[in-house]
Amino acid sequence: MLKLNTTRTMHSVAVQPPPIRPKERFLVFGSPLIEEAEIEEVVASMRSGWLGTGPKVARFEEDFRTYKDASHAVAVNSCTAALHLSILAAGLQPGDEVITSPLTFCATVNAIIHAGATPVLADVDPLTLNIDPQQVERRLSHRTRAILPIHFAGHPCDMDALCSLAEQHDLRLIEDCAHAIETEYRGRPAGTFGDFGCFSFYVTKNMVTGEGGMVLTHNEQDAARIKMLALHGMSKDAWKRFSDTGYKHYQVVECGFKYNMMDIQAAIGIHQLQRVEHYWLRRQEIWQRYNAAFADLPLTLPADTIADARHGHHLYTVMVDETRTGISRDHFLNAMTAQNIGVGVHYLSIPEHPYYQETFGWRPADYPHAMRIGRQTVSLPLSAKLTNDDVEDVIAAVYRVLGVA
Ligand SMILES: *Cc1c(COP(=O)(O)O)cnc(C)c1O
Repeated sequence: MLKLNTTRTMHSVAVQPPPIRPKERFLVFGSPLIEEAEIEEVVASMRSGWLGTGPKVARFEEDFRTYKDASHAVAVNSCTAALHLSILAAGLQPGDEVITSPLTFCATVNAIIHAGATPVLADVDPLTLNIDPQQVERRLSHRTRAILPIHFAGHPCDMDALCSLAEQHDLRLIEDCAHAIETEYRGRPAGTFGDFGCFSFYVTKNMVTGEGGMVLTHNEQDAARIKMLALHGMSKDAWKRFSDTGYKHYQVVECGFKYNMMDIQAAIGIHQLQRVEHYWLRRQEIWQRYNAAFADLPLTLPADTIADARHGHHLYTVMVDETRTGISRDHFLNAMTAQNIGVGVHYLSIPEHPYYQETFGWRPADYPHAMRIGRQTVSLPLSAKLTNDDVEDVIAAVYRVLGVA
């Protein structure tokens, strides 16, 4: 046995090609770090035969609630679902207006529309890339019922100003925390300021379940309603219905949705959550390395974190201003890809898209900061999965692309 093994090892060493150096393979943007613990937990779910919403979802909700120091947590199958149900649970009616940021993923705005409300955009602060409370104030109308801020890239919004606006004008506050799992503002976790905090565990986010989301809320009835709406509007979920305590009838009490999280997803999330701080520290390290490496380049780097706050370090975004770099943002994107480095754009401003132009008459130039940022921004790889060599490859590629190598 031992002999055979030795022979095999020697043989395989002899025929192995030379190791592939990192820059010789494509570095996928936002690739998640998946470890053995979640692989084993998923396999255990498969072997148990309980794939759907069950005990692992309940545990993941409790673990996440504890991590965020929140009152109630309801797991769903995406942040988009979390936002949709939160807006419904906030009691918004058709025609009610929700003020949000033009610099966000389309899901934020689509959720408002699906909930039957009307989105209204307020431009961002050009430094923090977060919704500007003064712009929110300017967009208030007699129909405004809610504010939906995004903690962009994990940088907390000015929650003092937004909470006081919400209080003054009797508005609901729904936080899009898709980038902000680890984010804090004045010692308090993002997602616990508003009536609802909505999180994403999509594959590119700071922790993943494949697809997945969570709603945090202070209100027990809101939590119960969201849970019910996430499973067809049924009064009892399947886990309880098929348990060994005997069959129980359910009643459909509202026309709900199919937004529940599976135990297979929660199996991943339970273990990802245990490493969320560890991953955050690694991303902070990469962040600081980028800041140091790019300090003298003609790029605009991410703004310093506002006082008394913790940045979630979800996206490292640089601005490529052609008048300074001599190359356009899109050229920069293509050149990075040609260097085998995957990059992202977060985001072209919402009014750049034809659907919103046609439906709401929005024009990019009406939100000038979001428009400029959307046309200049590039997100560099920031996953905890990156090795030190990967990080140096990204830096070297940026230098080459800008012609300063
Ligand atoms: C990813 C993202 C969403 C949507 O999250 P899903 O879980 O994919 O539905 C919403 N808002 C922002 C800002 C996002 O980045």
